[in-house]
Amino acid sequence: MEEEHITFVTAEQWGTAVISIPEGSHIETDLRFESVLEGVLVTGTANSVAHGECVRCLDAVEIDQMVDITALFAYPERAVAAAEAGADEDDETFLVEHDRIDLEPVIRDSVVTALPFQPLCQADCPGLCSECGIHLADDPDHQHESIDPRWAALQDAISDADASDDMKES
Ligand SMILES: [Zn+2]
Ligand SMILES: [Zn+2]
Repeated sequence: MEEEHITFVTAEQWGTAVISIPEGSHIETDLRFESVLEGVLVTGTANSVAHGECVRCLDAVEIDQMVDITALFAYPERAVAAAEAGADEDDETFLVEHDRIDLEPVIRDSVVTALPFQPLCQADCPGLCSECGIHLADDPDHQHESIDPRWAALQDAISDADASDDMKES
């Protein structure tokens, strides 16, 4: 058994249109390699930073994500035996080829699968005002008056009256 810290540098962008790991990003992994009967079992974690846009307010978001890695790299002769037995047909099988294993597809699968479908800058992002487009997070009480300006003076008079009532009571 062996443990290793490996840094992968992405040769291209990984992800979707809304969120992705940019080309040239560093994926930091801590992996444990175990020799098992069928081949080599790889387990560990991968840490990456995804960049995207909040789906509600369109602000840039940066998501630091840690994912678990688990993959079995089978020796080719074992993989054939397993396939013939009809076992684990749904599982993607990775192979040990010429005594080497290619970790990149495994890391990529795990990292990309963990990306959120709808990234948010914060869980309760209120989004943008549907009328003027400002960030509601900056101004939570923001609203548009739909009152006719001619009535505004009357409204002020009413609230003044309310205020003086309060003063009498206290
Ligand atoms: Zn947002
Ligand atoms: Zn507005």
